Amino acid sequence: MYLKRLEVQGFKSFAQKTVLDFLPPKNGRFSITGVVGPNGSGKSNISDAIRWVMGEQSMKTLRGKKSEDVIFNGSASKGQLGMAEVVLILDNSDARVLPEYAEINITRRLYRDGNSEYLVNGSPARLFDIHLLLAKAQFAENSYSVVGQGTIDQLLTVSPSERKDFLDEASGIKEFQIKRHQSQLKLTRSLENMDTAERLITEVEPHLKMLHKQVKKLEKR
Ligand code: ATP
Repeated sequence: MYLKRLEVQGFKSFAQKTVLDFLPPKNGRFSITGVVGPNGSGKSNISDAIRWVMGEQSMKTLRGKKSEDVIFNGSASKGQLGMAEVVLILDNSDARVLPEYAEINITRRLYRDGNSEYLVNGSPARLFDIHLLLAKAQFAENSYSVVGQGTIDQLLTVSPSERKDFLDEASGIKEFQIKRHQSQLKLTRSLENMDTAERLITEVEPHLKMLHKQVKKLEKR
């Protein structure tokens, strides 16, 4: 699996639809793509777009304050846009996730009115689905797959448990940790439901006994 294409439209400085095609591996070796340009031309906005489409929620990481800061805000020649869209296309010919698809397209959209959506291969998805999919692909927004300025320093100075998070994603156990967390939540909810059911039974039981007595009396009569 590798990053095949990135399509950005209305995201930060990318008013026009911009498509970045990344080279496929050659002779078993992955390619390297460099993005060059003057200061402030939007190089880091590309890595922000990759983080964002993978579900990044922290506006600090995305170098903004409010979520709508990622929508193109207008320039001297063009007015502001109403929607930001980023599509990340992963080559899945090794069938690492969703084996029925040769390509996996993850889309994230945000509208100025606050509505937002995620799509996986054109079908609506939840943020949880994106997290699970990326965890299966061992590719996630928090991991070493996006190494930003200062990430290495941070990796050396964080606490051992935070450092373990990086290693968990690299080793592929994140998927199971997410599933375990979901199961634990379901279990807690089921225990709560059982508790409510038991309380209801205790409440209804005396009434039921009384009704039984009344039925017997009526039958005798
Ligand atoms: P440097 O080399 O200094 O790190 P860079 O090439 O990485 O810069 P970015 O930080 O990616 O540049 O881009 C900054 C530019 O993006 C600024 O010109 C800023 O005005 C523009 N920008 C950021 N958000 C928006 C937005 N919502 N609408 C329009 N332009 C935006």
